[in-house]
Amino acid sequence: MSNLITCRTCRKPVSANAEFCPHCGEREPSQFVFRSSAIIITVLFLILVIYGIFVLVIR
Ligand SMILES: [Zn+2]
Repeated sequence: MSNLITCRTCRKPVSANAEFCPHCGEREPSQFVFRSSAIIITVLFLILVIYGIFVLVIR
């Protein structure tokens, strides 16, 4: 199983499991896919929305 992703540095196809890009040697070329801050903001927003729905339903 080897999903291909795009290297964040050289934009060439790299195995998603690769620790190093075989083309340019970038470490963890798949890391660009997820930006942790964006994920945290999204999760917090979802929690607020779900909490708001629960409050409305309970009332
Ligand atoms: Zn690369």
